[in-house]
Amino acid sequence: MTIETISELNKSHVTIVGAGMGGLVLARVLYLKGIPVTIYEAEASTASRKQGGKLDIHERDGQIALEIAGLTTEFKSLIQEGGEASRVVDQYGTILLDDPDDGTHGRPEVLRGDLRDILLSSLPEDVIQWNKKLTHIQTLSDNQHQLTFSDGSMITTRILVGADGAFSKVRPLLSEATPDYVGIASVETYLYDVEAKHLDTANIVGDGAMYALSPGKGFQAHREPNNTIHTYVSLKRSKSWFDKINFEDSEQALTQIAAEFEG
Ligand SMILES: Cc1cc2nc3c(=O)[nH]c(=O)nc-3n(C[C@H](O)[C@H](O)[C@H](O)COP(=O)(O)OP(=O)(O)OC[C@H]3O[C@@H](n4cnc5c(N)ncnc54)[C@H](O)[C@@H]3O)c2cc1C
Repeated sequence: MTIETISELNKSHVTIVGAGMGGLVLARVLYLKGIPVTIYEAEASTASRKQGGKLDIHERDGQIALEIAGLTTEFKSLIQEGGEASRVVDQYGTILLDDPDDGTHGRPEVLRGDLRDILLSSLPEDVIQWNKKLTHIQTLSDNQHQLTFSDGSMITTRILVGADGAFSKVRPLLSEATPDYVGIASVETYLYDVEAKHLDTANIVGDGAMYALSPGKGFQAHREPNNTIHTYVSLKRSKSWFDKINFEDSEQALTQIAAEFEG
């Protein structure tokens, strides 16, 4: 849907499911255009879960969206200087490629949670209805959709946008596509106070992103603010292999994952 067609909607109320990056940017643009909008979000509040790591926001798309949303200044205040650096190392730590941050901000890295916060604070509070997990949609005869949420509440809407992520409940209205496991999963790990406690790791990761990849396994690490390193530990294993690990027991899970990197 283009901005022009949105304007043609003649100020009809727009319902968005999902307050992730997509839903929030759209809601902000509609709000600036004076088009009434409500987002229904499954999570109970902004603080419900850690929002994950860094997003690189490119000039060719994400930065344009934030410009249209009138949030370029706020976005720029989140950029961690030096964070665009990329490094590739082999499994012994030998640096194969070292690409420093050139300072041009072509694809700066920002924390997803911080970006979400600036989007959230750019909208009136009542635009987002928290704790509204969509569980069922029914298309009614007059082109309306009836949405049922996990708390039993219901709404009816004509203009519905599914921004509810990979496992979207809205997508089946338009497409039979369903998410499939591609064969690789990542386990997230964090190291804190790295300059004092994990200096070797801090040095090999550098100021930005570090990729240590070998066939079927690897690390993608990011230097985050507050002296933190956030790593995606990736393994090519079946879903059932991962399902057998009890991630509630982080010590045990750590031992099992680390064993895959023996040597
Ligand atoms: C490890 C990783 C790294 C990535 N790195 C980058 C990157 O560097 N740069 C980049 O541009 N992209 C990156 N991406 C992709 C990016 O995260 C996605 O493209 C983006 O999050 C999609 O935004 P979205 O708003 O469509 O969905 P999401 O961000 O997934 O948001 C969906 C929202 O919908 C809510 N929701 C879900 N189900 C329901 C329901 N039934 N009812 C109500 N609400 C619901 C969720 O709680 C969530 O708030 C990365 C993805 C991953 C997994």
